[in-house]
Amino acid sequence: MTPTIADDDWSRMFLDGKWVPSPSGETLAVADPSTRDRLFDVPAATEDDVNAAFEAAAAAQDEWADASPSRRQGAILDGMDALEESFDDVVDLLISEGGSSTAKATIETQNTLATMGEAATFPARMKGEHAGSNIPNKENIVERRPEGVISVITPWNFPLVLTMRAVAPAIATGNSVVLKPSSETPVTGGLLVAKLFEEAALPDGVLNVVTGSGSDIGDNMAGHPVADVVAFTGSTSVGREVAATAGRNLAIAAMELGGNNAHIVTADADIDEAVEAGTFGSFIHSGQVCLSINRHVVHEDIYDEYVGKLATRAEEIATGSVHDPATIVGPIINESQREQILRFIDDTVDAGATLETGGEVVSLNGVEDSLVVAPTVLSGVTSDMPTACNEHFGPIAPVIPAGDVDEAVEIANDTEYGLSGSVYAGDVGRGREIAQRIDTGMIHVNDQPVNEEPHMPFGGVGASGIGRYNGDEVLQEFTQTKWTSVQHEPRDYGL
Ligand code: NAD
Repeated sequence: MTPTIADDDWSRMFLDGKWVPSPSGETLAVADPSTRDRLFDVPAATEDDVNAAFEAAAAAQDEWADASPSRRQGAILDGMDALEESFDDVVDLLISEGGSSTAKATIETQNTLATMGEAATFPARMKGEHAGSNIPNKENIVERRPEGVISVITPWNFPLVLTMRAVAPAIATGNSVVLKPSSETPVTGGLLVAKLFEEAALPDGVLNVVTGSGSDIGDNMAGHPVADVVAFTGSTSVGREVAATAGRNLAIAAMELGGNNAHIVTADADIDEAVEAGTFGSFIHSGQVCLSINRHVVHEDIYDEYVGKLATRAEEIATGSVHDPATIVGPIINESQREQILRFIDDTVDAGATLETGGEVVSLNGVEDSLVVAPTVLSGVTSDMPTACNEHFGPIAPVIPAGDVDEAVEIANDTEYGLSGSVYAGDVGRGREIAQRIDTGMIHVNDQPVNEEPHMPFGGVGASGIGRYNGDEVLQEFTQTKWTSVQHEPRDYGL
């Protein structure tokens, strides 16, 4: 019997078109971060399981590469149908497994559908070229072909959409896939994706999902000799190792890594609007977003008013268990992340910042050790303080004063990361000029940094990664060109 999306039997992996338990019999427990209750036991894959997955992927790839564009498009559309039919169950899974609020889980599921919709156009967009030649009577043809086998490694914070933005384009362009989701979210980041594609008439082996911890199988996922591309989304520290391992095999390293995003607010900005954007950008999904506002950089003329209003909004925002559909700020994913967040806050206060609000754990009825951290606003922050110079990944809004635009730009760029950012300005043209000076792969004027659209290039510079997802960029990343020339008349070699 195969698992259904609404049941809780996720005890098998998806290998070579079949649901199989790990031969080792070892399992990983998955808990609900709101209630702390155990949800599922998924297989703890071993290196042998990963080897079997790559073997199946390699065996399936040629047939899939040669499948017609309409067949490959049909597979993605079938997966979309399955997701649409089970939309509410998927939202529930994102809430219970990933600690997502209803709002975030709904947006994530909608974005996943949109991402698949974009990928469904790729088979027909894999076009080549025809070019003249400098050699008489020669014809040049350039074809676009799949890369081959793609190793996909994904994080827990947006498990479904971040997995699907790699898996759907990979399959659409004729590649086969071995997927390892985060061990925090092995269902919504992995087994669920296999379930969605199960009825999609993919040849066995085109999609394989292995569930296991990064420490056990991560090296094999990054360094497997069969992998042509290693598509990794996660932290910069792990990403550096994964890219180095992939590089030793000369596999392409597609790296989507951490961020330390700034929200610059100029003196002439509409303060209420900038605060509203800042509240969303800092607190959506409890700040556990690579694109979150990690630092608010605010002109000193409006600084006190901005801090006061942001603290008021932080106190108003619905906080607690995400099983209450009104909640916006829910639990942190696990205890070690929660402890790190609390340590960053304490150390920033010890370094001289002022705690305006938050800074503590919010207790939940009937939950022994709550993972919810109160939305926190810190003022008087400088760039070197722990919440500002680290990717804090929590519901923390450190606010840094800036004397003028040059200083704000300098503060925003004072980081090794370069993922996203935002500029709130009264004069939009001026906002755009400031945006041009920020060293990031993405930036948003009169908005906040958390934006993703399936046809727009997504990715960062510096320590935030290598390459781009979405639209044409991922189509290029997961395919390669092949130049074929045809000599129509005997060639004069001049010998
Ligand atoms: P992480 O780096 O700890 O884990 C990411 C994935 O890598 C998981 O599947 C994990 O099991 C695996 N992994 C761990 N050790 C490994 C190893 N040695 N070899 C191979 N794989 C290994 O990240 P996380 O805590 O799951 O996610 C949060 C991080 O991800 C943040 O830094 C965030 O900014 C980043 N992120 C980036 C983007 C983006 O698009 N740029 C999106 C979401 C999250």
